Amino acid sequence: MAAILPGATLGILGGGQLGRMFAFAAKRMGYRVITLDPTPDSPCGQVCDEQIIADYTDESALRKLAAASDVITYEFENIDAHAVEFIESLNKVVHPNSHVLRVSQDRLLEKKFLRDAGLGVTPFASVNSLSELEAAQESIGLPAVLKTVRGGYDGKGQAMVYDAAGAQAAFARLYRGHALIWEKKVDFTKELSVVACRDQQGTTAVYPVSENVHVENILDIGMVPARISERAAKLAREMAESVGRSLGIVGTYCVEMFFVDDENILVNEIAPRPHNSGHYTIDAANCSQFEQQVRAICGLPLGEAGFIRPSVMANILGDGKGNSLLGVSDALRIPSLALHLYGKPIAAAKRKMGHFTVLGGTLEVALHRAQAARAALYWG
Ligand code: AMP
Repeated sequence: MAAILPGATLGILGGGQLGRMFAFAAKRMGYRVITLDPTPDSPCGQVCDEQIIADYTDESALRKLAAASDVITYEFENIDAHAVEFIESLNKVVHPNSHVLRVSQDRLLEKKFLRDAGLGVTPFASVNSLSELEAAQESIGLPAVLKTVRGGYDGKGQAMVYDAAGAQAAFARLYRGHALIWEKKVDFTKELSVVACRDQQGTTAVYPVSENVHVENILDIGMVPARISERAAKLAREMAESVGRSLGIVGTYCVEMFFVDDENILVNEIAPRPHNSGHYTIDAANCSQFEQQVRAICGLPLGEAGFIRPSVMANILGDGKGNSLLGVSDALRIPSLALHLYGKPIAAAKRKMGHFTVLGGTLEVALHRAQAARAALYWG
């Protein structure tokens, strides 16, 4: 297929911060960007050429997006796969395609796919009734994590389970006719992620491994390079490449992993889109995860995925105490710090409002700088 060249219009389902950063990359390269999101003045809508304000299930809005766009992508995986299938039925290309979306938004399908592809995953079982709950506890064991199969993110829709009473309580809270998955709790030493981008010919650009720290299930910081052996880093990157190849992804994606030891790295989940843990690539890589997404969906050659200097990316979450970020001047005095804010007016508690990336000659220096920036920034 002929490449989609600058000047063309790229459509994106979802107008959040990932869409915003995608739009920055696309606009820099001379593309037009149109987003569809139900919330007016969305983070992406603020910076792209046009926002269609409509629900993802609104077929006339989806038709409008399809008609206006040369190719379409999406920025989060909890949109209804029917929306993507509907656009495909209009003979408009969506990258990654609806099959990729379907697998990655269903934890059971995803785990089965990963297991069949020969990648390590934690033992799991489907739970749709109290008897299946007891069977899962028997066959897979405790401790475990009980999760909704669909719709969960940032730790929502899941519970740690340590005993039979906890299992019953978690089931009562989570099971509302929604399918659940019982996962054996992994005794990991670190959480890792690898962002990669696969083009239409199957070439994959794989970024270095990020070591991620979560607080209350939300990504807090990502450190690159991850503090693991070269051997483990090679294995993690090969696993990420294998996910993209086996699933036939076109575009940027992220594979989140549990690092147990050098021989045991398990895949937790796949995000078929640019990822929070890949934001460092904007400031610390030759070509960002968002530019790679633009290149891949447009049929252009991928950029280099190597990093320039060690980096720490830290999320800036709202705390519900005020909507103005203060201490910005102090933070910007820190060398090699880049501040990214997403244009969200209300800094509700735990809402992702922005992030900063800070580079250093070594990861330790970057970590010190990140701590200083954290101390400087506050909401008021
Ligand atoms: P998830 O929504 O699957 O990304 O899970 C959110 C976080 O919960 C992960 O980043 C882990 O810290 C933790 N978690 C999820 N699944 C497991 C598991 N099977 N074993 C241990 N920790 C888990």
